[in-house]
Amino acid sequence: MQDLLTSLENLYIGGRWIRSSGQNPPHQVLNPADGSVLATVCVATTDDVDNAVRSARAAFDGGQWSELPIRERGQKLARIAEIVLEHREELARIESLDAGKTLREARLDVDDAVSAFRYFANAADLDSGRMVDAGDPKIISRIGYVPVGVCALIAAWNYPLQTISWKLAPALAAGNTVVIKPSEVTPLSTMKLVELMEQAELPAGTVNLLLGPGSRVGAAMTSHPEVDLISFTGGLEAGSKVMAAASADIKKVALELGGKNPNIIFDDTDFETVVDNALSGAFVHSGQVCSAGSRLIVHEGIYDRFVAELARRAELIRLGNGFDPSAECGPLATAEHREAVEGHIERAIAEGARLVAGGHRPPEPELADGYFLRPTVFADCERTMGIVREEVFGPVVTVERFSTEQEAVFLANDTEYGLAGAVWTNDASRAQRVAQSLRHGTVWINDYHPYLPQAEWGGFGKSGFGRENGIQGLNEYRETRHIYQNIQPAPARWFQAEGA
Ligand code: NAD
Repeated sequence: MQDLLTSLENLYIGGRWIRSSGQNPPHQVLNPADGSVLATVCVATTDDVDNAVRSARAAFDGGQWSELPIRERGQKLARIAEIVLEHREELARIESLDAGKTLREARLDVDDAVSAFRYFANAADLDSGRMVDAGDPKIISRIGYVPVGVCALIAAWNYPLQTISWKLAPALAAGNTVVIKPSEVTPLSTMKLVELMEQAELPAGTVNLLLGPGSRVGAAMTSHPEVDLISFTGGLEAGSKVMAAASADIKKVALELGGKNPNIIFDDTDFETVVDNALSGAFVHSGQVCSAGSRLIVHEGIYDRFVAELARRAELIRLGNGFDPSAECGPLATAEHREAVEGHIERAIAEGARLVAGGHRPPEPELADGYFLRPTVFADCERTMGIVREEVFGPVVTVERFSTEQEAVFLANDTEYGLAGAVWTNDASRAQRVAQSLRHGTVWINDYHPYLPQAEWGGFGKSGFGRENGIQGLNEYRETRHIYQNIQPAPARWFQAEGA
């Protein structure tokens, strides 16, 4: 990694580490916990994008990866999982430094990456096609899958390693070749992953890495005519541009966008458990989680007590840099992002939300250089408020009040997003009724945040479309082909033969 970071040969194209082909000034990657420079990396040009895509195209068309039996590709993925696990601590430290998350959380992210590679290593057993009964003994009809081709995989900054692994593992399992771009804010763990993947000896050009801003490098990837599929994780604005770019030549596209995720709390649950989980649902990684439980919808029977206890617990959260073993939450990703979150807080106060915890930067002098913000709780929130409707993507949670089950469901679905949500109740029938009424891609009952590599992940509405993980996550990266064979061909006699 040290060599990678000091040499400026940070692009990986055609199986080689190379410099940017242009004179773009290098990009400084900052440690959000103190603003120091972690690394200086090169920025790709549009020529580099073109070379990376062409390298992926040549590798795909060459067939050394795309035509390898799926089980052999699976063995390579299993090897990648092993290598990542062997470097768990190193990767976790890089992720913690770069993304500002605690080491504890960063280790779990590495474990998630390992799980993704392991799960898709077994892709051959997931769904390798099926025979179809054509209703005619002369016909053999089979559904099979082929890789889509060259995939552009673009990730957000909040879960860099996990996000890219969720894309890379199924894309490679299906036989595609890829060009990947991490966020310019947090590229380091992806660079390390690509370096580690060299040990698995995939054919040159199978995996290519680009670095740089989305507006130029990402945009050049998504508009490149040789790219067949785009899988994008990021915000609504960029997602909409990606979709527009994909439409020009009908690329396949999957969008994992934001969320404003409802967490419904009935009054019959264990109080301490539910407050504790509401806290972690909202504030893990300082709320910079697409599925953060940022919108609490709480039964009136416990509302006041709940708000008081949530605020008390939020004030106790210890902020610090990810390497500090006593830190429970890290900083926000960038200075600009913190300012944007502070703007949301100011507007929430102006529109009448009641600030009951946080809302300001931490007073500790040792945190002054980092982009920290105290966990913030707003009570007395209404569904029409901007703070309830917009994705803040920071340590801010709103609390609304409900009285009936019907009202809770209405509020939870009253969003343009639809990524995830939860319901807390000891009434099993009610739990199922509510869960089945929620228009969100993942619904947790009496839990918050867990996900499984074998369970599909993705959104309804403006949270995007397409799925990651699970069989559907694999199918995003495959074309379905129906092969129909007539074993006793005969003249069709649709038209009269000439002279008949
Ligand atoms: P972003 O949209 O600013 O950037 C995401 C990625 O897209 C980056 O790599 C960026 O360089 C690139 N990009 C930006 N503009 C582009 C363009 N025009 N063309 C191509 N690429 C472009 O998002 P972010 O700030 O990095 O991440 C935060 C957002 O990501 C939040 O909205 C969050 O909810 C979402 N997110 C969603 C999921 C999910 O699973 N649904 C997971 C993580 C994050």
